[in-house]
Amino acid sequence: MKFNYYIPTQILFGPGKLEELGDTPLPGKKALIVISSGPAMKKFGYLDRVIELLKKQGAESVVFDKILPNPIRKHVMEGAEMARNEGCDFVVGLGGGSSIDSAKSIAVMARNEGDYWDYIGGGTGKGQPVTNGVLPIVAITTTAGTGTEADPWTVVTHEERNEKIGFGTPETFPVLSVVDPEMMVSVPRHLTAYQGFDAFFHAAEGYIANIATPVSDIYALKSIELLNNSLPTAVENGSDIEARTNVALANTLSGFVESTSSCTSEHSLEHALSAYHPELPHGAGLIILSEAYFTFFADKVPERLTAMAQAMGKSLDGVAKEKQPALFIEALLELQEKCGVRGMKMSDYGITREEIPKLAQNAFDTMGFLFTLDPYKMSMEDAVSILENAYK
Ligand SMILES: [Zn+2]
Repeated sequence: MKFNYYIPTQILFGPGKLEELGDTPLPGKKALIVISSGPAMKKFGYLDRVIELLKKQGAESVVFDKILPNPIRKHVMEGAEMARNEGCDFVVGLGGGSSIDSAKSIAVMARNEGDYWDYIGGGTGKGQPVTNGVLPIVAITTTAGTGTEADPWTVVTHEERNEKIGFGTPETFPVLSVVDPEMMVSVPRHLTAYQGFDAFFHAAEGYIANIATPVSDIYALKSIELLNNSLPTAVENGSDIEARTNVALANTLSGFVESTSSCTSEHSLEHALSAYHPELPHGAGLIILSEAYFTFFADKVPERLTAMAQAMGKSLDGVAKEKQPALFIEALLELQEKCGVRGMKMSDYGITREEIPKLAQNAFDTMGFLFTLDPYKMSMEDAVSILENAYK
């Protein structure tokens, strides 16, 4: 039993906690606030509130508002240029995972030369080290899905090369994160479900990963339990603050899982789907893959699936040992049913069966590293057959 533990982020967690941004020490004097190109941050008043709270502490801010749901390299470069031109000394990601991830990538490129893809380790990235530091990052999350407020990871797509690749360094942990469930009540039902399942799979993958630790296990099982108990309510009634808080906690715990263990190849496969079909939401892609993906591992790490089934309330009484791992698949499908996302299809997003070999190849080429963290070494044929089994 050996592990390293490093999560250097100050987290303000709970309903109403955004207010404390007004008197929590900030890492700089001028912020680049990164938000999506959609209307939500302005419409719900979150942007104005954040600007005011920063101002209360004498910090100025400028806004970069171009981020797409699947964020792209071009906007990272543009945001970094704006940060440099405006003399920003910290970056605030406000919104969902795409805005916060972009803030992290912008914070890297505001301080380092060349192109963002020079620093990316997979695909056509050059894998150069980040040598010139990173601007401090503040994450204010208005969704519960990526866990990015509690981990160093950022996922960006190279829009010309169909490469959607994760990246991070110890310096891309946010220095300060705000997780205020009151800011999540406006997330629509279907997105609440997709994002909640993204958090679920960060926990479930982190639990089966071959680098899981006793600490990541505790976070993962608690996250799975919280999501199983509260995600259907949060989807059904978005203004239920208790359910939203439980889902937000699960999401932050899943971020801790990503910081202490890792996602596995389900994320590599999903990134391939949404690299070619950017209109497919990340969480929806994971839901589509999940039954086939976890069924593949049921006889490889049976005790891990059984423990997750128990965390989801399944009793082992009278169930033969070899049938216990399947209880996890059963619980997973029941949760999808309760959240109204069971039976989603790749074909609904324009993905064709003929694309499957290309998608499997892309997963290995761009996010091959995560395959090395699977509890069983998957071959290209295995990946193709998982995609085929998941195809509808
Ligand atoms: Zn994810």
